[in-house]
Amino acid sequence: MSEEKISITAIFGEDVFNDTVMQERLPKKVYKELRKTIDEGKELDPVVADVVAEAMKDWALEKGATHYTHWFQPLTGITAEKHDSFLAPPRKDGRAILEFSGKELIKSEPDASSFPSGGIRSTFEARGYTAWDCTSPAFVRHDAAGAILCIPTAFCSYTGESLDMKTPLLRSMEALNVQALRLLRLFGNTTSKKVTPSVGAEQEYFLVDRDKFLKRKDLIYTGHTLFGAMPPKGQELDDQYFGAIRERVASFMKAINEELWKLGVSAKTQHNEVAPGQHELAPIYSDCNVAVDHNQLTMEVMKKVAERQGMMCLLHEKPFAGVNGSGKHDNWSLVTDDGINLLDPGATPHDNIQFLVVLTCILKAVDEHADLLRESAANVGNDYRLGANEAPPAIVSVFLGEQLQDVLSQLISTGMATSSKQGGKLQTGVSTLPDFMKDATDRNRTSPFAFTGNKFEFRMVGSSASIAAPNIVLNTITAEAFADACDILEKADDFDMAVHDLIKEYATAHQRIVFNGNGYSDEWVEEAERRGLPNLKGMVDAIPSLTTEKSVKLFTRFKIFTEAELESRSEIKYEGYSKEVNIEARTMIDMASKSIIPACLKYSKALADIVISLKEAGVDGSAAREILSEVNELTNEAQKALQKLVQDDEKSLAIADVKERALFCRNNVKVDMEELRAPIDRLEMIVDKEYWPMPSYGDMLFEV
Ligand code: ADP
Ligand code: MG
Repeated sequence: MSEEKISITAIFGEDVFNDTVMQERLPKKVYKELRKTIDEGKELDPVVADVVAEAMKDWALEKGATHYTHWFQPLTGITAEKHDSFLAPPRKDGRAILEFSGKELIKSEPDASSFPSGGIRSTFEARGYTAWDCTSPAFVRHDAAGAILCIPTAFCSYTGESLDMKTPLLRSMEALNVQALRLLRLFGNTTSKKVTPSVGAEQEYFLVDRDKFLKRKDLIYTGHTLFGAMPPKGQELDDQYFGAIRERVASFMKAINEELWKLGVSAKTQHNEVAPGQHELAPIYSDCNVAVDHNQLTMEVMKKVAERQGMMCLLHEKPFAGVNGSGKHDNWSLVTDDGINLLDPGATPHDNIQFLVVLTCILKAVDEHADLLRESAANVGNDYRLGANEAPPAIVSVFLGEQLQDVLSQLISTGMATSSKQGGKLQTGVSTLPDFMKDATDRNRTSPFAFTGNKFEFRMVGSSASIAAPNIVLNTITAEAFADACDILEKADDFDMAVHDLIKEYATAHQRIVFNGNGYSDEWVEEAERRGLPNLKGMVDAIPSLTTEKSVKLFTRFKIFTEAELESRSEIKYEGYSKEVNIEARTMIDMASKSIIPACLKYSKALADIVISLKEAGVDGSAAREILSEVNELTNEAQKALQKLVQDDEKSLAIADVKERALFCRNNVKVDMEELRAPIDRLEMIVDKEYWPMPSYGDMLFEV
């Protein structure tokens, strides 16, 4: 096979209006002004915007762009765009003029009434605005629509309420910056100007063949399978994880890497995941806001590239029951503009006082707002995954590892930490293998919030979700803990003493959130209950966390959300839950009544014919009779369950209150769905494959 050579450095960022392009194309003064806005949050001068817009347009046209779009993230979980061509009214001689003004760059007005707003806006108040977010670079995207200049934007209502994920995310980053700088100043740091959360999102996904996908209504309508018996082989041999990558998948990986690199996304790591057909891609971390945008882009590119190659990329949290689902690990740390990572413990964390304050503040934050963190990872898909023995439990806890746990224990028992355990040498016993120093702490894959060396890894997030929500929560709760600590420390007469007391107090008061054991075990569920930690099993249990007094106080204090915005988001989530469950229910109804049950009846008829012929021939027909009666029994069972599901689905639609409807969907519709699935999955195991109306799990997982 001939192979085309790729130079990463040549293509990296070639479709991004990044700093290099800005320096090349903008007058020096304009560039400086824009940088001030990006780096220091200085208000943008409209004259500067005009010049930037002109340069951006020329650059995009050279890349073949015909249109531009404000690219935003409404509360649908995905991105939205509306393309406008660069055409201005033609000249008198009929020739085209291309235009793009500063005004068009800064602001656009999509009709907001068709986006979820949770009652904030009625349809007659339809005005909504998107506003340029210059902290996330614009880019040109190439696909079947041609080349489009995409401008990352925030989305707000006419009255200024946020209708998206980006606005509160940017607000939370600003709040955290202010409080983190306050803390740094107390420790004598006078040089750092900005503290930004760094985020790297590991993305898991499945690939299936497109033709098979199109034969499954459940995949088409809901993104995951609602029926399906386990194939003879699942993931029990552990031969998929990190296994050699099949050609078809490898060529997909190659193509997404190239596309992502061109878009400035630093795709770094790729490997097969635990389940057959499952894979992962991780980028190098970047500023929180950019990381959120890049993750959205990554998911979009994955879907497009897969389709181009005759496959479909499944981002659902649980595409196949019985094998591992997909998550998205949100790696999070705090870094200053001059390169200090506040979560770096150094070699001897016990005497790194600043680190210990940051760490204990985060313990306090996570302990006090465990419910909010849990809620930030709640979606319908994740309900199929969290708390099962593959993904973190629905209980939030923090893994610190041996070294930090030891430091914490010293602090709690004596008020002083005097030593830090070290990793020591790794000895393999083989002389030709190199010796090296191992980390001071092992990993724990079962923890939802794990310290991993110089960052925290929040592992609850679902694979299809935007990482905006969890980062909004992480940034805000940390800002609050820093603010509370600063309020105390700034007033202290004896700073060293006050710091010492604060660390001990926080460590002691919040040690219950730390758990270093096996998060998958039943004992932990009991232990967590004894400790009083919340166990919010599903999305419907988690949504109330958004609007508690504690949550409203937190988010309004730092101006991240108003109470109305929180109410609206809670309403959107309840509504979204029911709608998705209803779609799943109706998809099952459609599949069962139009194809699966008819197939079973046809098979019964064929079996009955066989039974009769055998009898006529005077041959023993006990096998056929046995199968026939089993098929018949299970089909009757399925039909009964189907009718129940139809009734409850209809009932749920009649419930006006969003919360009540969501509860009914969970308590009734979801239960009916399981009851319909059970006999049908058993039928799949006994009905002749020729009759079964869709590809099986085995067909999809092993024959990509
Ligand atoms: P793992 O810790 O899962 O074994 P890595 O160390 O490669 O793997 O990190 C996984 C993800 O975490 C990557 O996206 C990586 O860029 C990101 N990451 C690494 N260091 C940091 C950091 N300091 N802050 C935020 N994300 C980070
Ligand atoms: Mg990881």
